[in-house]
Amino acid sequence: MAILVAGGAGYIGSHMVADLVEKGYDVVVADNLSTGHRAAINSQARFYEGDIRNREFLDELFTKEKIDAVVHFAAFSLVAESMKKPLKYFDNNTGGMITLLEAMHDHGIKYIVFSSTAATYGIPEHMPIKESDPQVPINPYGESKLAMEKIMKWCDQAYGIKFVALRYFNVAGAKPDGSIGEDHHPETHLVPIILQVAAGKRDELSIFGDDYNTPDGTNVRDYVHPMDLADAHILAIKYLQAGNPSDAFNLGSSTGFSNKQMLEAAREVTGKPIPAKMAPRRPGDPDALVAASDKARSVLGWKPQYDDVHDIIASAWKWHSTHPQGYNDK
Ligand code: UDP
Repeated sequence: MAILVAGGAGYIGSHMVADLVEKGYDVVVADNLSTGHRAAINSQARFYEGDIRNREFLDELFTKEKIDAVVHFAAFSLVAESMKKPLKYFDNNTGGMITLLEAMHDHGIKYIVFSSTAATYGIPEHMPIKESDPQVPINPYGESKLAMEKIMKWCDQAYGIKFVALRYFNVAGAKPDGSIGEDHHPETHLVPIILQVAAGKRDELSIFGDDYNTPDGTNVRDYVHPMDLADAHILAIKYLQAGNPSDAFNLGSSTGFSNKQMLEAAREVTGKPIPAKMAPRRPGDPDALVAASDKARSVLGWKPQYDDVHDIIASAWKWHSTHPQGYNDK
């Protein structure tokens, strides 16, 4: 029996595939390569190029491969883009989930672990954020993922498809051997942009807003490494296979770093000056997002290895400094 990684050519999905292969799993990847990279897929995984919104593609895949559990990363994830193009997000994220669940139901596949997000919480009432806190998204990205969580709850009840929703906070870093990493076109995320400035590929960082309700006025986020995320997904698969009920877990370090602190940490790690300027707020950004992640630790037995943001940035720097053009395939 194999694990299907939908979106396995993407940033987090490719780390998941590598982790599964290294731990001895039989791995199948489905990806439409719209944002992912063929070169990011571990060569020991069987790759099917196609879109999870395409029912025929899924039927063919589920007929050829005996899949025990699906790990679903095939989604768009940019807050700012979702504010301008909400339907793109509801179509791919929410619509894609519907087609995937229909196909899973018809082919008798009972387990799914899926990427949810801190963006489902909107503006949190208190910090750190607990899984039981209200989910009131303030952007279409978060709304599209909350809809996916709700759809899964009813599919569990109706069809017995068991799920784990993993609500990631901010993901940064790369596989420690520097073989895979983050490569988006265009790049919009804070850590890769900071490191592109460090590498001389950009002139300066624009910090979006310094008048937020946080200690230094810039947004506070909680950073988690993709290899630690991958470990959490494997624990979630085992949790479901052991017969446990569907549930949602936050994945974060439980420590917040402001955008200014991230810049300072990157200056220390790289030894580069990294010029930066203040810029207007980016629509859709809550002041602060920090996870309470003790539930994942106690219930799943999750033990993140990267608990220092300097180590996260150092792993990303290894990737960016050795792959200045990323995968160089777009
Ligand atoms: N950010 C920034 N400048 C950039 C990119 C991002 O100041 O060029 C800020 C952004 O406004 C947010 C934080 O960095 O406060 C993290 O943004 P990112 O896009 O990396 O992740 P998100 O929080 O949207 O998932």
